[in-house]
Amino acid sequence: MAGHSADVIPTRSGPEERSGRLRVLLSELGADSLLVSHLPNIRYLCGFSGSAGLLLVERTKSTLFTDSRYTFQAREEVIGADVRIAKRGILRALAEVLRDRRRRLRVAYSPAHMTVGEKQLLERAGVRWVSDGNIVEKLRAVKDAEELSYIRKAAILISDVFRRTLPLIRSEVSELELAAEIERGVKRGGGSGPSFETIVASGPRSAWAHARPTSKLLRKSELVVLDQGAIIAGYCSDMTRTVHLGRASAKARSLYQAVLDAQHAGKQAIRPGATAGEVDRAARGSLKSSHLDRYFTHSTGHGLGLEVHEMPRLGKGEQTVLCEGMVLTVEPGIYIEGLGGIRIEDDVIVTAHGYDNLTTAPRDFLEL
Ligand code: ZN
Ligand code: ZN
Repeated sequence: MAGHSADVIPTRSGPEERSGRLRVLLSELGADSLLVSHLPNIRYLCGFSGSAGLLLVERTKSTLFTDSRYTFQAREEVIGADVRIAKRGILRALAEVLRDRRRRLRVAYSPAHMTVGEKQLLERAGVRWVSDGNIVEKLRAVKDAEELSYIRKAAILISDVFRRTLPLIRSEVSELELAAEIERGVKRGGGSGPSFETIVASGPRSAWAHARPTSKLLRKSELVVLDQGAIIAGYCSDMTRTVHLGRASAKARSLYQAVLDAQHAGKQAIRPGATAGEVDRAARGSLKSSHLDRYFTHSTGHGLGLEVHEMPRLGKGEQTVLCEGMVLTVEPGIYIEGLGGIRIEDDVIVTAHGYDNLTTAPRDFLEL
């Protein structure tokens, strides 16, 4: 059974507290400081939401380097870090600061988020590199109370938008029109935008797991996969529903039920201490029992937060241990060439005893 949201919420909160925990981990990495170049990580650690910046986290202080476009925004947003407005390039400003340090610094960095050119420029400033082991992403996987409240709002918003879009899902409407309506609904509902490009895929195209909407018109007797999300205060939701235009065949109904059962099985495996791979195995095993597992061609889900895909990944054999406060999607799907695709995706939070659904949209098979 799902736990109650009341027993979920970890009390710690805020960028300064996050940087404090990060500093403890820095010594474990054998680093003097951490260079943060991935923008969602910068936002997480100091609140800055601009599109250009580097954050240097040292033992006793943090410094955000950005440019003059963000002078006022940085003043408004940044918590727990000094702000330096770079005049001749952000990287150059950082290099100058590092060069002024008396000794060669061991700087932890994320290889996935730095170019070779950037790395070489900083090496000339005397930096010795240590891999950051994705420590910020690992911290981000467990959400605090403030983050959870935003993700919950984003999940409720996209659920409401879907409900309001339902009357528009009918024959002769194009996939693009529907996608536009959903994205408009997100902004009208107070979201800053969709958390990714909305997917509307109908008929045979619904078998493309990540289809872009096209000018194709919806037709009677087609499956329609709608994958959509909203952003509130930087935090994402992600939800998929599959509907049928007109009365569905017994076959389509039984396939839908099999995917819904797989989603339920996946959710039932969620609890603190379980591994991400166990959740995937439960969902996949459920589809296997109805001989449909070969049509399930992606992983069962992913973490969700400042980015629409973040740690942990709920894939085959994933060893990440689930903790209270993680937010996950559970989204099994089957894709059969010629017939179409069915995917059902919800956002859930890991609670002390299991999980709690954040997505509130109906999950029954809708024949519209
Ligand atoms: Zn999705
Ligand atoms: Zn997803």
